[in-house]
Amino acid sequence: MKAKLEEVAQTYGIENWGAGYFSINKKGHLVVHPSEYDRRGADIMEILEDLQRRRIQAPLLLRFPQILVNQMKKLTGAFRSAIKEFDYNGRYYGVFPMKVNPRREVVEEFLRAGRRYDFGIEVGSKPELYAALANEQASDSVMICNGFKDESYIRLALLGTELGKNVVIVIEKIGELETVIQLSQEIGVRPLIGIRVKLYSKGSGRWEKSGGESAKFGLTTSEILEVIRVLRENEMVDSLRLLHFHIGSQITSIKRVKNAIKEAARVYAKIRAMKINIDYMDVGGGLGVDYDGSKTSSESSANYTVQEFANDVVYTIKSVCEDEDVPEPNIITESGRMLTSYHAVLVANIRAEIETVVGEYESVKVDDDDPQVIVELKDLCMGINSKNYAEYYHDAIEHKDEMYTLFNLGLISLEDRAKGEILFWEVCERTAKYAQNDKSMIDEYEELRQMLAAKYLCNFSIFRSLPDSWAIDQLFPIMPLHKLDKTPTELATLVDITCDSDGVIDKFVDLKDIKETLELHPFKGEPYFLGIFLIGAYQEVMGSGHNLFGSLNEAHIVIEDEGYLITKVVPGGNLGESVETARYERAALQESFGELAAEQVKRGRLSAERANELCRQYESYVSCYTYLS
Ligand SMILES: *Cc1c(COP(=O)(O)O)cnc(C)c1O
Repeated sequence: MKAKLEEVAQTYGIENWGAGYFSINKKGHLVVHPSEYDRRGADIMEILEDLQRRRIQAPLLLRFPQILVNQMKKLTGAFRSAIKEFDYNGRYYGVFPMKVNPRREVVEEFLRAGRRYDFGIEVGSKPELYAALANEQASDSVMICNGFKDESYIRLALLGTELGKNVVIVIEKIGELETVIQLSQEIGVRPLIGIRVKLYSKGSGRWEKSGGESAKFGLTTSEILEVIRVLRENEMVDSLRLLHFHIGSQITSIKRVKNAIKEAARVYAKIRAMKINIDYMDVGGGLGVDYDGSKTSSESSANYTVQEFANDVVYTIKSVCEDEDVPEPNIITESGRMLTSYHAVLVANIRAEIETVVGEYESVKVDDDDPQVIVELKDLCMGINSKNYAEYYHDAIEHKDEMYTLFNLGLISLEDRAKGEILFWEVCERTAKYAQNDKSMIDEYEELRQMLAAKYLCNFSIFRSLPDSWAIDQLFPIMPLHKLDKTPTELATLVDITCDSDGVIDKFVDLKDIKETLELHPFKGEPYFLGIFLIGAYQEVMGSGHNLFGSLNEAHIVIEDEGYLITKVVPGGNLGESVETARYERAALQESFGELAAEQVKRGRLSAERANELCRQYESYVSCYTYLS
């Protein structure tokens, strides 16, 4: 069935969640753009064909570095224009929080392209700091060290200070301060010190508990005063330069942002009034991404834009500073989700449709010799219509239950059971169809429709590539990458290839609600590719090796005037690498396989020649991709 492209785009809500990065071309293929204003585009199906020629197959991850840079531009631009609009007397410095996506390519892109925007980096652990330190960054930019720290963490941070970087050690726990003072005096460097304040204000959404009185991080008011006292005592109060807070990720409501800023700005002003020259205010992360495109405060959305966020931060700090008559601080953000979500697209192919009902209703022959319950199910099938379907459907459920009872008592055969199942599901399908046309009944039969929905087997692991869908029911936009000039006529849910029954996606983005099924095209065995979008934040690093599925094939795409360039291809994990994560050794596996084969030769069950061949074949699996090919 031919369809208007706009209608299909609407079905999937591209314009709501895509932030201008995605569109559909005349061929009905999905196209990626480097920014919302740049109409150059790359046809994802063409990219897939190119990669196929290089023997890089789905499932795979496409990375668009231009989108990373554009998001950084957008964030910086929003703050710069807010600073201008409100005549704010401070500057803006963005930092990229490394935990959101620590991949080298991502971090390097931010620091390289970020030189023009004074973009820095935020680390929350020793390994992140270790990796970040060796990167070149803009001389004006900052490196923020968050997270709990021991002596060796602080020593490593001070190495960065000696290297000439603006490393800010943020005190999360009062005990860390002593170590910072002691080590910096011992080494003879002047550290930059920040304090993380525990706010009374909370965020909103899933990560609400990261803020508020019982938060895991941050100093209480009396601890802040203690920090100041100890620094004064050591004549180091000039080192105190930054006030930090972070009230949680994906803050869905702008009101919570404003409240937190108001409170933190007061804390800043009161400290500043004590003649302490704190000159940076770090407002943390939490800038929300509108995954479902609804622009609401629901958990997978946010009710504000990037510009509104920037305006509120700048304006609120300014008004508190005016009120308290203190200078305005430079502003730092640690937004990570907003910067990285859009740049990565997961491409997975559909392998099969898993049928709930297998068997044709027409082929079921029922006669009077059949058990009564089967005859009655057949009668229901024949007689069901738009007026009686509710009653017939309930009768069918009773008969089906009775049929299984009879089967368990040994009273009916496997053939009877098969007939009964086919007849029962036929009644269900007809019921769903009648209910669909009956507006008053739509909700009543939602569960039935859900049961009848096709299940498409999708070649990827939710645990490896989409952990937040499994762990916290987060929504991600999903849609076909081609056939978009045809109306999707099937309703389906997705199952992944792990053996885990939790490996299912049955919640999909919708403007007003959450959809329980996704509109897809009928699957007849020909190649069918789906894209899973906005997965660039947290998913890659939090994914796990359930069933030993490994990393995905990956390609980096730069969009040009005439099409695109594939600038990097990284083959995904193979069986050899995958088993090593569970501490097997390839050589040892090969050796024990060989010993088992030799044993069979000794017993005369296998020829030596065949045994060698088996060993050779086993060995060749070492380089096999972990997904279905
Ligand atoms: C996780 C984290 C961030 C990033 O938050 P986003 O919601 O991804 O912007 C920033 N700062 C700190 C301290 C964090 O723990």
